[in-house]
Amino acid sequence: MKQQERNRVRGLSRRLAATLSAFCLLAFGSGVVAETGKVALTFDDLPALSLFADQPYVNYLNDMLLRGLKRHHLPATGFVNESKLDAIDRTQQIANLQKWLDAGMNLGNHTFSHESPDQLGAKGYIADIARGEPVTRALLAARHRPLLWFRHPYLETGAPAEVKREIDDWLSAHGYRIAPVTIDADDWEFAEPYDDAIARKDETRRLRIRKQYLDYTERTIAWYQKASDVVFGRQIALVMLLHATRLNADCIDDLSGILKARKLQGVSLDEAMKDPAYLTRDPYVGHDGIDWMERWSQERRRDLPWNSWQDPPRQIVEEYDRTNNDRH
Ligand SMILES: [Zn+2]
Repeated sequence: MKQQERNRVRGLSRRLAATLSAFCLLAFGSGVVAETGKVALTFDDLPALSLFADQPYVNYLNDMLLRGLKRHHLPATGFVNESKLDAIDRTQQIANLQKWLDAGMNLGNHTFSHESPDQLGAKGYIADIARGEPVTRALLAARHRPLLWFRHPYLETGAPAEVKREIDDWLSAHGYRIAPVTIDADDWEFAEPYDDAIARKDETRRLRIRKQYLDYTERTIAWYQKASDVVFGRQIALVMLLHATRLNADCIDDLSGILKARKLQGVSLDEAMKDPAYLTRDPYVGHDGIDWMERWSQERRRDLPWNSWQDPPRQIVEEYDRTNNDRH
């Protein structure tokens, strides 16, 4: 502490100094970050990730999610699987995408069928990306906006290295930027048991899942903020992976509250990606879908704080496995 600051502290009344030190203990002891940060919200699997192919349910969750994002001034980018358009009512599904643009949000490509590059190989995966764009591209073009963003399903980026390189080269030749993920709180795992609780009209279970989800999300965001300090020595602008679900539509006010508590200001994906951290090379080649904080911890040779990582509650994992065996 500089002499000048020490003198200022000495000059404070004892009462104020005591309050301040209690605050510091509270703030730093509980892992609250002092620095204000930025976060871009991204929602995958548009028009919706839902247990039911139920058009009114999907329309409702899109309406509520977008209303909440606007209410809290949270920009967002939605990543579309165009295979989902024909899974229910194509006209209404496209109208849901339109609503995202009407609400001032952006859209990106998440492949047509949500298959893994490991399943399809480079050529098949690239064909699935190309097949996933016509409707989204046209909706954006009607507003004189480019289709810029691509999100890999399961965060799988292709392996071995030649497959990854072929996919990367195709994406950049076609004007795409990969949307990395630097917060992943496994919301999909809570979302389908939540849909199931709604279908069964089990209000106690629905509220319990919601609470478990919000508690887990707050803890996980704090972990990624800590990881940012470890890997970059500062709070980078974060990109959070979420899904277009009824759970997030119902929780959007609480999610906004969590971001405020973590001192995170919502920004667009374009804005977050201006952070120079996103120029860091992604060295990872492998079959697991891992987030970019982990990829960059490898590139920068920093160990992530795994000793404080917590997986989703076992109860949720079991409920998910009983409800569905797909992953998102
Ligand atoms: Zn997905």
